[in-house]
This record gives sequence, structure tokens and C-alpha cells, in this order.
Amino acid sequence: MIIKKQAFKSASMRLAATYLLVVMAVSLVFSVTLYRVLSHDLEQSFKRTVNVVDDMGIFGVRPDQRKRLAFEIERREERDASKRRIIDELLFINLGILVFGGGLCYVLARRTLRPIEEAHDSLQRFTSDASHELRTPLTTMRTEIEVALMNNKMTLQGARQLLASNLEEVDRLTHLSERLLLLARLDETELPMQQVGLDSVLQSAVQTTQGRFDDKKQTLQYVPNIKQSFDVIADRASLAELFVLLLDNASKYSDKNTVIKIKTDKKGDAAMVHVIDQGSGIAASDLPHIFDRFYRADSSRTGGEPHGYGLGLPLAKKIASLHGGDVAVTSKRAKGSTFTVTLPLAS
Ligand code: ADP
Repeated sequence: MIIKKQAFKSASMRLAATYLLVVMAVSLVFSVTLYRVLSHDLEQSFKRTVNVVDDMGIFGVRPDQRKRLAFEIERREERDASKRRIIDELLFINLGILVFGGGLCYVLARRTLRPIEEAHDSLQRFTSDASHELRTPLTTMRTEIEVALMNNKMTLQGARQLLASNLEEVDRLTHLSERLLLLARLDETELPMQQVGLDSVLQSAVQTTQGRFDDKKQTLQYVPNIKQSFDVIADRASLAELFVLLLDNASKYSDKNTVIKIKTDKKGDAAMVHVIDQGSGIAASDLPHIFDRFYRADSSRTGGEPHGYGLGLPLAKKIASLHGGDVAVTSKRAKGSTFTVTLPLAS
């Protein structure tokens, strides 16, 4: 981490030096041009002044040669002094640009590199969290297999139990890798967008999750809006996945025999889909974090639901934002949660 910080610091320095080089090059070219123009003007005005004295001869006024020479020397000195003053002032200005510009360039370079640094940090955090999550089921499987191998008197029932437990861990790994792959796919590929009816997308999400609700004897209520149909520009499969993620959570964090509702309405130019459950709710202290990757509320870690990696909501948010929308939540502990997806309507 320290090495990385230093790498970003020296990259900022290099970038700042490049910015400064460009600024100084422009400033020097500008200064030289300005000096040449001004000294040319001074030269012209000097020549004109001296010529005026010489031209006086035309009108019969012959200036004293000694006085004329002294006059010319005086004007010449004035001209040279003006040139020196211009050089001094330009040097002073360039020095100022070097000092203040240097500082400013460093600030700008840090600002330019900050988003890259943040993206790098988040990728590093993500990789380390993902490796940790992948290692946990692997360690469990390894330990169980090692213990079983040391047991010479293992019965067939014991072996079956071991396989069942291993299968559970394999399921966890499959689930995790699917989520990671979906995240990677969303990051890498452009979604094939088209105009789709929100109703049909919701129907397909309901179909996908119905089994889960049946298993927990939960009722999923979705009454399609017959008065208004909402069309959005979307990738049908990804959008359905978003609602599957929310419905999965609604089922997962609600007790048996509860009701989960889907409601749709419209606000301005946006369609809103509310997924309302009567489940455990989310503590106010967890609410700001639940959309962070790998974040799981403590209550969910200790709860009976094994298949959670804290990737569902970040995925849902990502899909929504790829559609120009968002996911928001309101929740009350022990009362339930409402997840609201906002999507711009197709015009
Ligand atoms: P997980 O795989 O843990 O469900 P998510 O990203 O889907 O990961 O959710 C993050 C956390 O948000 C969960 O661990 C849970 O604490 C909380 N959460 C999400 N949806 C709900 C819900 N409908 N009711 C209560 N808590 C929820």
C-alpha cells in the first residue's frame, strides 16, 4: 500500500513536471515574442527622435554637433535602460509562473490522477475481498476432506454427509463465481439496449423467482398496471436480473408466510418499481453501506441464510445505473424494506 502511494506520488510529480514544462515553454515563447516587439518599438522610437534632430537642418536650424551627440547618447541610454527593465520584468513574471505554476501543476496533477488512484484502490479491495470469499469455502472443503481421510472407520453415511456438505460449498462457489462473472460482464460489455415493456420484464423476473417464494410459502403479489404501460430502453435480460436480485433478497430476508409486493408507478419522466417486503428490515447504521461490494449487515451474517456475499445489491445498482436509473431503499428494522428502482421512460 505504501509502495502504491509512493508510485502515485511520483507519477503526480512527473505529470506536474510535464504540465509545468508546457506552461513554461508557452510563457517563454510569449516573453521572447513580447520582448522582441517592445524592443523593436523602442528602437523605432529612438531612431525617430534622433532623426527629428537631424531633420531640423532642413529648416535651416543647425544643431551644435556636440549637443547633438550628447542628445543621442542620452536617448540611447534611455532606450537601453527601458530594454533592461523589460527583461527584468519578464524574468520576474516567468519566475512567478515557475513557482506558483509549479504548485498549481502539482495540485492539478493530483486531481487528474485521483480518480485513477481511487479506481485502483477499489479494484485492489475488490480482488482481496473476492479472494477471501473464494478461500473460505475451499478451506472448509479441504478441512472436511482431510478429517475424513484420517478417519479409517468412515461409514457410508459419513461419506454421504461429507459429500453433501462439499456439494453445499461447491454451490456457494458456483453462486459466487456467477455473481463475479456478471459483474465483470457488466463492466466489460456494452448492453444491447432496445425498447421493452417493463411489465414483461417483471413477469419474467417473477417467473424466475416464483419457486423460491413457494418454497418459503411466501406470497408474491404482482398486479400488472393495466391502466398504464411503461416502456423503457433496456437490455431485457440484465433488467430482469436486477429484479430477480431484489426479489431474491426480499424472499431471503423475510419470514415464511409473509407477503412480498411489486408495485409500479410513474414520476415525471421515470418509471418506478417498488419491491416491498415485510421482512427483517435493515438497521439505519447499515443502510448507507448495503450497496457496497461484499457488504453484509451483521444480522444477515448470523442469520440462517447461507448464500450471501454482499454482491446482490451492488449488482442491482450497477444494472440500474447502466440503464440511466437508480435503486433506493427505505427500511425499518423488523417492519420490512422497500427497494425502489427508478428508470427513465422511453420517449
Ligand atoms: P447478500 O448476498 O448478503 O444478500 P446483498 O448485496 O444482496 O448481499 O445485500 C447486502 C445486505 O443488505 C444484506 O447482507 C442484507 O443485510 C441487506 N439486505 C438486502 N436486501 C434486504 C432486504 N430485502 N431486507 C433486509 N435486508 C436486506
